[in-house]
Amino acid sequence: MQMSAGEKVGHAGVYRVHHQGHRPSHNSILQQGETFPLCRICAAAVRFEFTQTLNESEEIEHIGYDRDFMDAVLGAARTGS
Ligand SMILES: [Zn+2]
Repeated sequence: MQMSAGEKVGHAGVYRVHHQGHRPSHNSILQQGETFPLCRICAAAVRFEFTQTLNESEEIEHIGYDRDFMDAVLGAARTGS
């Protein structure tokens, strides 16, 4: 099941992030209650697919540290305070 930017994250976990051609798919962590962010390049065309629940041993970064989502995540945090 694929989720779109703007939808609420229902389950914390590792998500496979599918872009529209400008970079390969990658894994990022999202926490429950967050909003799937817009990609700075493919914007609302980006898709998120749940792959697994959080595992402390996984070396995967939260999506807020990804260069394509940093601005969207930080912007949402600012307006939400
Ligand atoms: Zn993208």
